[in-house]
Amino acid sequence: MKRVAVLGGGPAGAHTAELLAASGLETILIDEKLAWEKPCGGGITYKAYEKYPFLFESRTPKKIVTESYIGAHKVGSVKLKLNQPLLIFSRLELNQMLLDRAENAGVQIEKERVTAIEEREQGWTLKTKAGSIEADYMIVATGARNPLREVGTQWTPQDTMVALGYYIPTNQEHIDIQFLDRLEGYIWIFPRAGHLSAGICGRGETAQQLKLRLELYLDEKGINWKQGQLYAHMLPSLSRAHWKTNRVAGKRWMAVGDAAGLVDPITGEGIYYAMRSADLASRVIRSESFDPATAAGVYRSQMEDDFLLDLEFGASFAQKLYLGRFFFKSIPSCIVGYMNRSPKLYELMQDIFSGTQDYISLRNRVFRSLNGSVNESVVNFIFQRIIPEPPVSIRATAR
Ligand SMILES: Cc1cc2nc3c(=O)[nH]c(=O)nc-3n(C[C@H](O)[C@H](O)[C@H](O)COP(=O)(O)OP(=O)(O)OC[C@H]3O[C@@H](n4cnc5c(N)ncnc54)[C@H](O)[C@@H]3O)c2cc1C
Repeated sequence: MKRVAVLGGGPAGAHTAELLAASGLETILIDEKLAWEKPCGGGITYKAYEKYPFLFESRTPKKIVTESYIGAHKVGSVKLKLNQPLLIFSRLELNQMLLDRAENAGVQIEKERVTAIEEREQGWTLKTKAGSIEADYMIVATGARNPLREVGTQWTPQDTMVALGYYIPTNQEHIDIQFLDRLEGYIWIFPRAGHLSAGICGRGETAQQLKLRLELYLDEKGINWKQGQLYAHMLPSLSRAHWKTNRVAGKRWMAVGDAAGLVDPITGEGIYYAMRSADLASRVIRSESFDPATAAGVYRSQMEDDFLLDLEFGASFAQKLYLGRFFFKSIPSCIVGYMNRSPKLYELMQDIFSGTQDYISLRNRVFRSLNGSVNESVVNFIFQRIIPEPPVSIRATAR
């Protein structure tokens, strides 16, 4: 293969392009905006920077946060000391750092919008305002609003969440996470270097309703959102059924990151999966046995072995976790309420925050560890009710 075109220069596209060019492949990256302040919390978990240490080590400004307050309806909030810090970047700066790395690895970077793609016998012709670009293989990294219908995941309204928020020019040292009554979603306040990213994501309510919920919460906390700048975007959140049929690759193309719907259906974490899918896609292309005819299947099965089945399993109980009730209380309220009464539950929440607790083995961990007191037995009972037994075929993939 001679030339790979990467469409999109967010974390997924920039990282794929960097890895391909570093292995000597001619790589061109095309993004209509290049580095920009993509609507996002910008939070990066330990799981992500453990695998990609340059995220931590880089000199790009970031906030290193070690404390979170987790709140829920009617139970107040609990302080959680993070066992591993969360890094919080401005997306403008994170994207710039990743694009710089790609450029240093030898990627040719073009600021253009790809308006159409045409399949040739042995590759692709990409149309931009400035002209056409030829490539033998294509990486689709155009994000959740991928305008190219022929490639990448195929959205239905059930597969996305609304996500919006404010960048507010003020500071705080900790994170806030707030679960709201009868909302499949949550509010976050992430401190960044120089400002806060305060937002809400949710399913089943309009953007206007979510915005009001967020503003009310910020008013209650005395945070002046009126000084802030509003942002909104689509957050992929695939249903369980869709994970099975999700179109992640095809003939001479692979999709990475949001364009393939690769976002955690419970937490909304997407940057890790953007980087990880970039890593796996580039490994398939760089492998000695690379064959464009079989590459799509290889990529899919590598993702299944790595994280896909876990996200699919998470999607099977996401809604129950947010909307389920136990004795008139929401499940998040029960969990927050018991956190200070059970050190084991507290530890579990720390691991969920750091990204080191997968969904497939969660039920088993709760069953094995939360049984030392009446409180723990209640939490255990709640988890056993909402999390189904994972099918034997996927239990083996638990981290
Ligand atoms: C409000 C919100 C908060 C979030 N918070 C977090 C968080 O705290 N932590 C976390 O891990 N994840 C978070 N996410 C998810 C995270 O933002 C995404 O998963 C991540 O950005 C995916 O990276 P990507 O490279 O796949 O896509 P994107 O970052 O969306 O990049 C896609 C790129 O493609 C370019 N592009 C699109 N179409 C074209 C075209 N036709 N031609 C050329 N270029 C094109 C765009 O300009 C863009 O640069 C959040 C998402 C939202 C919406």
